[in-house]
Amino acid sequence: RYRSFKTSFMGNPSHGLIRTGLFGGSFSPIHIGHLALANYLCEYADLDELWFLVSPRNPLKAASALWDDDLRLELVRRSIAGYSRFRLCDIEFQLPRPSYTVHTLEALRAAHPDHLFTLVVGADNWASFSRWYRPEDILAHHPLLVYPRPGSPIDATDLPPGVRLVNAPLMDISSTFIRQALTAGHDVRYFLHPEAWQALQGYPE
Ligand code: ATP
Repeated sequence: RYRSFKTSFMGNPSHGLIRTGLFGGSFSPIHIGHLALANYLCEYADLDELWFLVSPRNPLKAASALWDDDLRLELVRRSIAGYSRFRLCDIEFQLPRPSYTVHTLEALRAAHPDHLFTLVVGADNWASFSRWYRPEDILAHHPLLVYPRPGSPIDATDLPPGVRLVNAPLMDISSTFIRQALTAGHDVRYFLHPEAWQALQGYPE
């Protein structure tokens, strides 16, 4: 299983490249659960930086579940502005859709040859990783960092080379919770970065 992972990554994984975590999602909206995890990975998981890879809106998805592209991007921008290791990555907005991770990673490798991209996935996504599009190709070029998710137990002794479990502390918060809270008129400002909350106040319904 996953034997094609390049042995050159092992031992000296970065080869002087900038070790960049890629944290993908819809971020509708980005919340402190995302931010705290990303912060932890930069400080404790041997990453130089972390990019928030925002997915474009799927037109088939309910508008209530996925906020406007510009708003999601703006809230990420505002939330990450104060920490130099964070960056917004909107490359999927320039790629054919739907964007498969393997294609996004190919495009990123071509555009940023000085970076080693480590894919950050939750234990829930790792459990279904073999059903992703071309998982072997992803593993052949990229290390993976798996973080725990409630309800998705993971056996750290049974991971292929290049895949590492990181014991990040987790907050049980979701974007769904925030969207529902806002719809119901609750003031959940402390679940978002203050700058994001502020920006949201000026945004039309
Ligand atoms: P939704 O409730 O709309 O499904 P979400 O909060 O799960 O959204 P996503 O945009 O799907 O947010 O999140 C991007 C990635 O962050 C996903 O891989 C998801 O598993 C992960 N994630 C979501 N919430 C948390 C959290 N509280 N802590 C750590 N990771 C999280």
